[in-house]
Amino acid sequence: MNQAINTTCAYCGVGCGIKADVNKTTREISIIGSDQHPANYGRLCSKGTALGNTLEEKGRLLSPLVKGQKTSWSSAIDHVANGFQSIIEQHGPDAVAFYVSGQLLTEDYYVANKLMKGFMGSGNIDTNSRLCMSSSVVGHKRAFGTDTVPGCYEDFEKAKLITLVGSNTAWCHPVLFQRIKRYKANNPDVKVVVIDPRKTATCDIADLHIPLALGTDSWLFNGLLHYLADNDYLNQEFIYQHCNGFDAALESAASSSADLKHLSKILSVELTTLKTFFKWFANTEQAVTLYSQGVNQSSSGSDKVNTIINCHLATGRIGRPGMGPFSMTGQPNAMGGREVGGLANTLAAHLEFNDSDIEIVKTFWDAPNMAHKPGRMAVDMFEAIERGEIKAVWIMATNPVVSLPNADQIKRALNQAELVIVSDCIEKTDTTAYADVCLPALGWSEKDGTVTNSERRISRQRALLEPLGEAKPDWWIICQVAQAMGFKESFDYPDAASIFREHAQLSGYKNTPEERLRDFDISRLSSISSDDYDNLNPFQWPINDSYPQGRERFFAQGDFFTPDRKANFLAIEPNLPKEKTSKQYPLKLNTGRIRDQWHTMTRTALAAQLNQHINEPFLQMHPTDAQQQNVHTGQIVQVTSQWGQMLAKLEVTDNVKQGDVFAPMHWTEQLSSRGRINTVVNPHVDPFSKQPESKHTPVNVHAF
Ligand code: SF4
Repeated sequence: MNQAINTTCAYCGVGCGIKADVNKTTREISIIGSDQHPANYGRLCSKGTALGNTLEEKGRLLSPLVKGQKTSWSSAIDHVANGFQSIIEQHGPDAVAFYVSGQLLTEDYYVANKLMKGFMGSGNIDTNSRLCMSSSVVGHKRAFGTDTVPGCYEDFEKAKLITLVGSNTAWCHPVLFQRIKRYKANNPDVKVVVIDPRKTATCDIADLHIPLALGTDSWLFNGLLHYLADNDYLNQEFIYQHCNGFDAALESAASSSADLKHLSKILSVELTTLKTFFKWFANTEQAVTLYSQGVNQSSSGSDKVNTIINCHLATGRIGRPGMGPFSMTGQPNAMGGREVGGLANTLAAHLEFNDSDIEIVKTFWDAPNMAHKPGRMAVDMFEAIERGEIKAVWIMATNPVVSLPNADQIKRALNQAELVIVSDCIEKTDTTAYADVCLPALGWSEKDGTVTNSERRISRQRALLEPLGEAKPDWWIICQVAQAMGFKESFDYPDAASIFREHAQLSGYKNTPEERLRDFDISRLSSISSDDYDNLNPFQWPINDSYPQGRERFFAQGDFFTPDRKANFLAIEPNLPKEKTSKQYPLKLNTGRIRDQWHTMTRTALAAQLNQHINEPFLQMHPTDAQQQNVHTGQIVQVTSQWGQMLAKLEVTDNVKQGDVFAPMHWTEQLSSRGRINTVVNPHVDPFSKQPESKHTPVNVHAF
């Protein structure tokens, strides 16, 4: 008999609700969008719709493996626990690390962070969300005092000007794009501006496309700030009452971007285009600015984020319907990871590595080995592994051999490590090839827990099917290892609901009454019953005594989470990407996603209909560059940087600017032996967020 179950999509940060019609006997699932879920109101994109076609048993990791041999759970857990313990005893806690993922559920993330930071004694847990939105986290904290997304999706349906920066929303966040497109069709006065070096599918609804030169966003938004000030469009009352640092920010903006003619040259954008955007922004009170990886994945990503936030603070357009800066996350639970401290430089419940916050977490967990400093962050973590400083790494639900920049360095690091553990639901990935221990984890449709989408909305991901083989929940695997290491009572959870309750309690826990204000607070759910957890409806945090139904927006009346409750303008001196082009590497490589594939394709490639869209690695190049290189569409070309090489099929198109080339990030070595673009991508990072510069690598391209 079939059963209807509400759950959440496995893929992007829109976080769409799904209604699954499940036949538990045949394991067949038919999927439609949940018309009750506020993220999508019934809509789904091609990836979400195809989820039911990705659940086959073939290719799943079904048993624990040690050195490639099947073993029992207890022996695999002992192997992992003993391995970690012996390395910690010999070399200290900073010789071990976890590299986790925005694919984990919040409950999984919570116990992983608790084990590493509270009990193993190191800050060395970082997440692939570092590659996605860590620059936004820095931007939020510097401006607002906390990592708070001020608005919600509804703002896109209340705005009169929607600016999409560094985001191919049509392909990467398709349901949000559908909402914007429909709203615009019904409201022809609404304007959409797309700021992106490439002409993407998102430009189909753009009234204005600004194809700025790669990496120049900070000049553009500094220019906008200066224009607003110069033409009397500032909200002086908001600036005076609710903000600090405006004069310094304006001075920096003026020194980099005051002269519009000069600015148009830096951006490589027509002066009239620039003036049009500035006028539209200046004259439209209801303005929302979405930004995504094109802003974040940069060696100056944090600064770019703050130049955008500066313009919204200067006009007081924040936290009111249809107004605000909006960070769009890539992954289904990047936000949940931020909430539980999945980033190496934060603690659980949006607490920080300072004395009083460390004390709160230490006391709450009764943690014997509380970490006192941030750990290694993604790129740095794998470099430390290669140098032998980190000797054991546990990789959960991610495929860094494909997804991290300078990807061949990840292979060298994993070859060098004494102990590599990989938890995954797929047996053969480019990363499991390097594992000493493989632990079979549940996949989407079997997992049970919560995720948080880009608008702070927490939704349940529910189990639809029984686990395959001996696969187990990630939280269970982590807790078993913790218990085998001697941390028995602290990891004795019967189910995901009990972990969620503890997470909710910590969000409201205070050591002393005068502790600083905290944004993330779901303490109203601290005693939620297991039944209520099972039936939990989507809500936007916080959910506490002040906001018992959740909260749509922050900061309309100021009340930022800084000590004086005022927001900070940041004075930004723009910086170009770290590596410059040269005679040897004259082209700039930009990377991104395609419409129908997700990350390293371990799931989406299983659905035949998703492979029909684009089925092999490609490189886009401008016709003038193609002529100079004497290459043409359909030819296989070799892309080379100082870090590595890859092969792709060429597509000559004027959708990329002259001097730029673009390639997708999805293909693995297993799917295309020389198709991993990240072998070519540079490992430079933003100095504040440590987010890699995935959007700008000097390369050369030749016929293969
Ligand atoms: Fe899933 Fe994102 Fe598509 Fe929604 S838009 S169905 S969350 S991939």
